Amino acid sequence: MTRPVMTDIKSLTREELEAQLKAWGEPAYRAGQVLDWLYARRAATWEAMTNLPKPLRAKLAEQFTLHTLELVRQQGAHDTTRKFLWRLADGSLIESVLIPANPALYGEASDRHTLCVSTQVGCAYGCKFCASGLDGWKRNLNPEEIVEQVLATERAVASERHQATGETPTPTGTRHPSRTVNNLVIMGMGEPLANYEHLLKALRLLNAPWGGGIGARKITISTSGLAPQIRRLAAEPEQFRLAVSLHGATDEVRTRIMPVNRKYPITELAAALADYQRAKDQLITFEYILIAGVNDGLDQTRPLAALAERLHAKVNLIPYNAVEGLPWARPTEAVCEGFLAALEGHGVTATLRREKGGDIDAACGQLRLRTEREINGAG
Ligand code: SAH
Ligand code: SF4
Repeated sequence: MTRPVMTDIKSLTREELEAQLKAWGEPAYRAGQVLDWLYARRAATWEAMTNLPKPLRAKLAEQFTLHTLELVRQQGAHDTTRKFLWRLADGSLIESVLIPANPALYGEASDRHTLCVSTQVGCAYGCKFCASGLDGWKRNLNPEEIVEQVLATERAVASERHQATGETPTPTGTRHPSRTVNNLVIMGMGEPLANYEHLLKALRLLNAPWGGGIGARKITISTSGLAPQIRRLAAEPEQFRLAVSLHGATDEVRTRIMPVNRKYPITELAAALADYQRAKDQLITFEYILIAGVNDGLDQTRPLAALAERLHAKVNLIPYNAVEGLPWARPTEAVCEGFLAALEGHGVTATLRREKGGDIDAACGQLRLRTEREINGAG
């Protein structure tokens, strides 16, 4: 007989956990203890929760799973952008990328990090330039699999620090005074707004003061432009930030590289973004990867500027990272700088990413793709 699928403890809100513990006749303070073990101490096992009575630990283990992510591969060194490849309970692979804050930005070496998390295994949207969609869509991530990317990354960083310094590891010991991850970008594998319910649940857990404690304004959701879900997000109470993968300022160019543009063309996308803006009073970001000969012509800068102006958006220009097996390339530096200058000439606030990210397959989906293909003997 197959067992029914169990709920994972890291997909429960505080209220849900409190209700369960109350039903078991536990005192009210138990919920706080469990949450402290999960989010502040990043406990990976029930046994680690030493201040809970053994029978309660057994009951929890009977009722809930406590999944952790298994680290399969890591790329990149200490203090640089690092990529983590995780194996999920069903064997699927996903990626998270840890990006240290630019020390110059804060005036001193800092412990601040941004984590880029995945929301699906694969992606159904099939943008022509992207590694994540190359092998199609497999499934949505559960809330705890999104939450656990933050906790597992922090566990990995803590244990590395331990190896480097001899410092005692603390995952099952003392409380962690602060998170290693204090900014989140939902820009990993998958289309976050196509996994709307699980995404929102996970972000609320990561945002809650008793959970991840990461401010809503420090969480940026990136979408390929699902207009109805953008409107739905606009109606939520949280002030999550929104980034839109535009990559083309006319339907002709955008449709060529992003099939989703057929379903939600630029006029419709812009109308949904205007709604979001009205509801949130927040700056939207347009991501615009520059791909040689595809969308890097100066003719795109005028319609891009018009859209940005209308929606009070800023534009992040990102030179394309080549993906194995795909024909696209990054334009020359001169072309990228020229595109930026033309945009700024039209009065747009824009930035151009200049660091070299290509060396660790910085574009999401690539490490997984390569590993899957090696495992399957095709790589
Ligand atoms: N599905 C969402 C979020 C994940 S993709 C979205 O499309 O927005 C995150 C960002 O990485 C997107 O802007 C995407 O267009 C970009 N991206 C994908 N492949 C890339 C590559 N090879 N080089 C640079 N950026 C890439
Ligand atoms: Fe999916 Fe985003 Fe990649 Fe497009 S760019 S295939 S929406 S992950």
